[in-house]
Amino acid sequence: RALEAHLRAAPGVERVTLAGSFRRGRETVGDLDVLATARDGRACVERFCAFPDVARVAARGPTKATVALRSGLQVDLRVVAPEAYGSALQYFTGSKAHSIALRRMAQKRGLKLNEYGVFRDGRRIAGDSEESVYAAVGLPLVPPELRENRGEIEAAQAGRLPPLVCASDIRGDLHVHCHLDDPDLARTFCKAAAARGWAYLGLVDQASRLESAIAGGPSATADALARLPPEHAGVRVLRIIECDIAPDGALVLPDPLKAAADAVIGAIHSGFALTRDEQTRRTLRALQHPALRILAQPSRRLVARGEPYDVDMAQVIHSAAAAGVAVEITADPARLDIGDLDCGLAREAGVPVSLSSEATSPEGLADLDFALLQARRGWLEASHVLNARSWPDLDEWLRGADRGRAASAPE
Ligand SMILES: [Zn+2]
Repeated sequence: RALEAHLRAAPGVERVTLAGSFRRGRETVGDLDVLATARDGRACVERFCAFPDVARVAARGPTKATVALRSGLQVDLRVVAPEAYGSALQYFTGSKAHSIALRRMAQKRGLKLNEYGVFRDGRRIAGDSEESVYAAVGLPLVPPELRENRGEIEAAQAGRLPPLVCASDIRGDLHVHCHLDDPDLARTFCKAAAARGWAYLGLVDQASRLESAIAGGPSATADALARLPPEHAGVRVLRIIECDIAPDGALVLPDPLKAAADAVIGAIHSGFALTRDEQTRRTLRALQHPALRILAQPSRRLVARGEPYDVDMAQVIHSAAAAGVAVEITADPARLDIGDLDCGLAREAGVPVSLSSEATSPEGLADLDFALLQARRGWLEASHVLNARSWPDLDEWLRGADRGRAASAPE
């Protein structure tokens, strides 16, 4: 981002965009592609290579350069003519599979599509904007997050591209790490949430921490939680307890906490050595607990290590639907749990997805954007997202579904 600003400030540089898998919101970004339009390509390349964080210039030409930043990240710059900006942006955003499918559509119409534009008989007919490129092959603009050739082209052809959930749809965050016996910290979080235009905030405390922090038994716990303001700065406060799912699938949830909390989030924090079958059984049993409303980190995947799921997500989502439990996308870039493909399972099963920052400080609320990108890659619309609901709707969901389950599934 700093690099983007650095380039924009250069004289003669018109547009700067980060393209590549980064623009598609991919969880792992190997390198960064920067696209710029400028009257003077050489000057733009000079400016790019002079960025203070550049550790090494690997290659440099009149309209392109490759550098390595101090962080180790490789960044490629391309300077293109304004009339080719859209086609270059489309080309460098990818994905490869999506672009190949697009090129095939162009060929069928007797067009040639490449990074320089869309051409008929050698004459340019489109390319200055991405919209013009897609329009040339008869499609509306496809959002970058969907460009994986997973059905988005067919959906665009049929006029059925989903209206993806966006930042302005989000009304709050249901997984913010706070100490529920610290009203001052709670107020600080609320102010930050109000600044983002949010209506509610789920302040989450670990059951184990809270229990040991508050000596004096059940009444002391209830007293401490009662000192939290029900709302502050116009933001509703939800007192949420995060509890461990024991290896046998029981929720480690002391009664006084259960009674004092507005909602319960369950997560597996230990006992990772179980087999896939055992892990699935454990999660399915936890989903039967009448107090559980949100399942966090269901697949406990680690993106960077590329570990396979050790739980049957199709079964988990199916059971969550039956139990009326939401699943979570956490913004932690190392996890982004659940993944984009599991979002599709949740969407089809009607399981609400909660997008959470898991912030530990007010600044951390901005991290919710990472969960949002993941949700968009998973084709989620606002109606699929739990924290896109208005406060009355969320309140009703938290109460209503609970009652229904308590009646049919005794503890
Ligand atoms: Zn948590």
